[in-house]
This record gives sequence, structure tokens and C-alpha cells, in this order.
Amino acid sequence: MKITIIGAGPGDPDLITVKGLKLLQEADVVMYADSLVSTELIERAKPNAEVIKTAGMHLEEMVALMVDRVQKNKKVVRVHTGDPAVYGATMEQIALLHKEGIKVDIIPGVSSVFAAAAAVGAELTIPDLTQTVILTRAEGRTPVPDTEKLRDLAKHHCTVALFLSATLTKKIVKEFLDAGWSEKTPVAVVYKATWPDQKILRSTLERLDEDMKANGMRKQAMILAGWALDEQIHNKDYRSKLYDKAFTHGFRKGVKE
Ligand code: SAH
Repeated sequence: MKITIIGAGPGDPDLITVKGLKLLQEADVVMYADSLVSTELIERAKPNAEVIKTAGMHLEEMVALMVDRVQKNKKVVRVHTGDPAVYGATMEQIALLHKEGIKVDIIPGVSSVFAAAAAVGAELTIPDLTQTVILTRAEGRTPVPDTEKLRDLAKHHCTVALFLSATLTKKIVKEFLDAGWSEKTPVAVVYKATWPDQKILRSTLERLDEDMKANGMRKQAMILAGWALDEQIHNKDYRSKLYDKAFTHGFRKGVKE
């Protein structure tokens, strides 16, 4: 007995993986969070598939449905937005399903963090500038462990991607400034990345709160902060070792000038 969790990607139905789409098309039962996954994608399921919207359900209700359908020998898939591994709340479903003797396979998806980076044309790891990306969230109703406070994470001065934080911009800005970031640090925000109503905002720490308010970005936004988001990055001379003429690696011998 098995169910499959599929990463749907960030919105655009074409951004699901080939493997994810095949499994969706073969499924007898498709469960999905209707506020976050495109209905156009779900319409690619078999015409007679049972489609269940889960946005209004609690965990036990959802799992009971999955167990019931699997026990009736149905192929069940659960479609999650982006990649299921980040803020997907998959672990609690998997724990309950395991207790019922049901195995869970996971098919990865394109996370909104990468869809947002693509939308703004950014590389999040710029040689000599930053080689690290922190995926996190600001603390709101959901607590964040003490050792992971934004102001501590920000001390690394790397690229920081903030999920689930669009209503917490005042707090975010304060934490970054407390960590020593300059007010001029570039911040790119992508609202509904890859959806038809996607919006891109280029801002800085000092303007972020105001700009987001003015643009009505208060949900489904990915906030990318750090100098890797500098719109002028192409005019600055950052080069990776990988393509550097003088650098030797497994596939190429460097040449001395
Ligand atoms: N597993 C998902 C994240 C789910 S948490 C993923 O990998 O993307 C929901 C948060 O993800 C939202 O609050 C927002 O910060 C971000 N998000 C999800 N889809 C988005 C999109 N299309 N554009 C921008 N941000 C998105």
C-alpha cells in the first residue's frame, strides 16, 4: 500500500516534473490544496479521477481519506505546491500514513524560491560575494527556534530567501539592520511567481515595507534579500572558477597567461 506526494511546482502547470505529471495522469484519486495549486494542472488528471480539495480539511480528515482510498486499491496522489520538502507539512501526514502501514513516495518539484530567482533573472550564489542561500521564514504565529532567529542567520551576509513572510516586512527589515545589513541592500520580491498575475518588485531594505504595502503584496510572495539580487550585478566583475581560463578542474586543464 502506497501513496505518492508530488511537487506541483510554483504555479505554471508546465513546471511539474515529467515524472510527477505521469503519476498525476495515472491517479484514481487526486488530493490537492486548492488555494495553492493551479486547477489547470489538476485538470490533467484522468477524467474519471476523484479530485479532492483539501484546503478546508484538517490533518486527520485528510489522512483518513487517503487510507480509505488506498485500502480500496486506488492509486492516490497528493499534490503539494512547489517542492514538498520546504514548508510542505508533509512529515505529519507521512507519520500517520506509516502508522497505517502505507508507504509514501515523494516526487520533487520546483520550489517557489527557484521560480522567483528565475523570474528576476538572478543567480543566488555569486562567486566572491556569497556561496550560501538560507531558506527561512520570519517568525509570526508559527514560532522559529531560538537558534534560528533571522538576525542571527543574517549575520552570514549571504542570500536569504523568506517564505511565508509577506505580512512581516517591518520585522524582517529590523532583523536585517540589527545584523548589520546596509539599508541599501537589494531585495527582490516575487508575488505569485509563474502565475499569470505574477508581479516583481525590486526594492531595498529601507523601502521594502512601504513598497510591498503599496503593491498589495501581502501573501504568496517570495522575498529574496542580499547583494546577489543587485540589479547592477552584470556590470560588476564577479566570475566563477568553473569557467575561469586559469582554473584546473576535473574536466579542463587551466592555462597560464
Ligand atoms: N513548498 C512550497 C512552499 C510552501 S509555503 C515551495 O517549495 O515553494 C508557502 C509560501 O511559499 C508562500 O507564503 C510564499 O512565500 C511561497 N510561495 C509559494 N508559491 C509561490 C509563488 N508562486 N510565488 C511566490 N511565492 C510563493
